[in-house]
Amino acid sequence: EMFGQLTSGLESAWSKLKGEEVLTKENIAEPMRDIRRALLEADVSLPVVRRFVQAVSDQAVGVGVIRGVKPDQQLVKIVNDELVKLMGGEVSELTFAKSGPTVILLAGLQGVGKTTVCAKLANYLKKLGKSSMLVAGDVYRPAAIDQLVILGEQVKVPVYTAGTDTKPSEIARQGLAEAKKKNIDVVIMDTAGRLQIDKGMMDELKEVKRVLNPTEVLLVVDAMTGQEAAALVTTFNVEIGITGAILTKLDGDSRGGAALSVKEVSGRPIKLVGRGERMEDLEPFYPDRMAGRILGMGDVLSFVEKAQEVMKQEDAEDLQKKIMSAKFDFNDFLKQTRAVARMGSMTRVLGMIPGMGKVTPAQIREAEKSLKIMEAMIEVMTPEEREKPELLAESSTRRKRVAQESGKTEQQVSQLVAQLFQMRVRMKNLMGVMEGGSIPALNN
Ligand code: GDP
Repeated sequence: EMFGQLTSGLESAWSKLKGEEVLTKENIAEPMRDIRRALLEADVSLPVVRRFVQAVSDQAVGVGVIRGVKPDQQLVKIVNDELVKLMGGEVSELTFAKSGPTVILLAGLQGVGKTTVCAKLANYLKKLGKSSMLVAGDVYRPAAIDQLVILGEQVKVPVYTAGTDTKPSEIARQGLAEAKKKNIDVVIMDTAGRLQIDKGMMDELKEVKRVLNPTEVLLVVDAMTGQEAAALVTTFNVEIGITGAILTKLDGDSRGGAALSVKEVSGRPIKLVGRGERMEDLEPFYPDRMAGRILGMGDVLSFVEKAQEVMKQEDAEDLQKKIMSAKFDFNDFLKQTRAVARMGSMTRVLGMIPGMGKVTPAQIREAEKSLKIMEAMIEVMTPEEREKPELLAESSTRRKRVAQESGKTEQQVSQLVAQLFQMRVRMKNLMGVMEGGSIPALNN
């Protein structure tokens, strides 16, 4: 399994926190050592590991307790968020030229899967509705040109070739002209790789780049090379200037070091990943999905996220003050009801919110439906009406207007208003403040 060793290394970190109440400087020391070891064993670059571990422990110690969330779950969430950040946060889309063909220049060492990527990329672009043309620029290996032609036929994309006697920069110029003539959307230029970085290769790439003025310069790197991939991306970026990397062979037993180091070390994002030998096996690099796969704890993550959302401290405090002062209005009502609805769908996911009891799917659907109805009515209220529900209690004209504008009945509006005042009273009682909250009768 992809990154399996990293995953189990991290698991041992969480397991050390079982039975703890909160995260402390003391009790995270051992899990942090596990995390550090797991990353180093995955061949993540050492400075990256150091920064990562520091960032995670800083957050772990400072994190507040979220009701219902255990410390090990909290640490999973922190590590996840840092992993996502480490890999660049958002997905890095390919850039397309505003006019004329988009030119993608591919570079990379020999054997990393560059030729295969050319065809995979054309296939990928086809699914995006873009036509492409491959240009065979690897003039040192005649077999590479043949291979590109065969792969081009396989994905039904034209391949421009000019044999092995033409300079790559000249082939590039001709290929680009041909693509313009044929109104092709994307030109994908294959270039020669060497076994190692050498000056000849770099000079040639610079020349090809100058001729093509490419939209994207992507370095193809083999994920199996671990943190070495990050060093390669850095070197190519300094030498020729690249816009991103394509990581191949993620389906093999790569340990994760490349995926985790490239962005942080080189400053350039991984844009696409190859995960197999078939033409379909190329996809965008999604940092969040990758982190999710590494941790293998999708449900814990969504649980913690939802709990955080619901428990937003300020909201809660704000609400509490409002309740204490009997100022609980329709804005708060909406917030509260939405929070409860979210809690509802959360219990559906995990059935583990303390004190919520068992909620059936039917109940949740019902609650969500009535939330929609309430939202519709509150939406058409004036800001004044939202803040002073008394206005609606006192005036049937107002209630009629709300009913009409929201497409509900006047009775539904009256119910909503009554419900708000009932809620005020219930909440005041809950808070132990007994005086005050009477439920006004609705005037006609
Ligand atoms: P180039 O020298 O960089 O052009 O490399 P090739 O495109 O010829 O690929 C070298 C070998 O790696 C071939 O056998 C490919 O089938 C294989 N390969 C390329 N990409 C992937 C990948 O994502 N996964 C796997 N498993 N093999 C790949």
